[in-house]
Amino acid sequence: MASTRTAIITGSTSGIGLAIANALAADGCNIVVNSFTDTEQDKSIAGKIAGRHGVEAVYLKADMARPDECRALVEKAAGTFGSVDILVNNAGIQHVAPIEELPVAKWDAIIAINLSSAFHTIAAAIPLMKTAGSGRIVNIASAHGLVASPFKSAYVAAKHGIMGLTKTVALEVATHGITCNAVCPGYVLTPLVEAQIPDQMKAHGMDRETVIREVMLNRQPSREFATVEQIGATVVFLCSPAAAQINGTHISVDGGWTAA
Ligand code: NAD
Repeated sequence: MASTRTAIITGSTSGIGLAIANALAADGCNIVVNSFTDTEQDKSIAGKIAGRHGVEAVYLKADMARPDECRALVEKAAGTFGSVDILVNNAGIQHVAPIEELPVAKWDAIIAINLSSAFHTIAAAIPLMKTAGSGRIVNIASAHGLVASPFKSAYVAAKHGIMGLTKTVALEVATHGITCNAVCPGYVLTPLVEAQIPDQMKAHGMDRETVIREVMLNRQPSREFATVEQIGATVVFLCSPAAAQINGTHISVDGGWTAA
């Protein structure tokens, strides 16, 4: 492993991905920030992370819906920093609708961004990690990788898929000093969750506060949102020496949701 580890976090200009980027930077990693939007604000995020934590950070645009851009992201990161030690597959989107009303384009985009992108980035990163003799892959799945909810067929299918991908990759790389695990958050109040509140209100015929209380946090026995910082700290742990023998499994950060 290089003396300073390099971490790629897909979809890291917002929400959970941004918190993971900050947490890994605080742990001393050089950081590759990614999104598909390529705005001035996106680009400024890398500078802020570098300044705050005294590491190097770059912004690399790549659309996780496009296989070629997923693979190129890993190659560009290795070209920039000389290694890819940590890969966090975090980019994800959501669309809430009954299955018969779910647009085909939304199904295809969710499967591409939430599942297939991880296949492409992992496939590109593993040869580099094998050469280095070490590596950490963390896939941000969801409680919906373990259980289902109505009106989220594409999301639940993609998240269950990434759990299977996580286990399979773990078996393939276990003798190479590489681990592959998933983190399964429950509800975390990020822009992704904010954006689905209106659709949930429509699907369930409820107002905003009732959706939050009865639909979202009703599933979370703690009755509290998980925080982005808690997800970041969980990823840091999975990337630490203490987690070297944790492989092919998941950590739920869901306030007890999936214990039921
Ligand atoms: P968010 O909407 O705040 O952030 C999503 C990030 O992904 C953004 O940086 C966005 O630019 C990026 N992104 C979206 N489409 C992309 C694409 N095509 N290419 C590259 N980047 C793209 O979402 P979040 O809530 O922080 O979610 C992050 C991950 O955590 C997702 O995989 C989501 O499914 C998962 N998750 C979230 C929650 C939650 O409650 N927020 C719960 C469980 C799992």
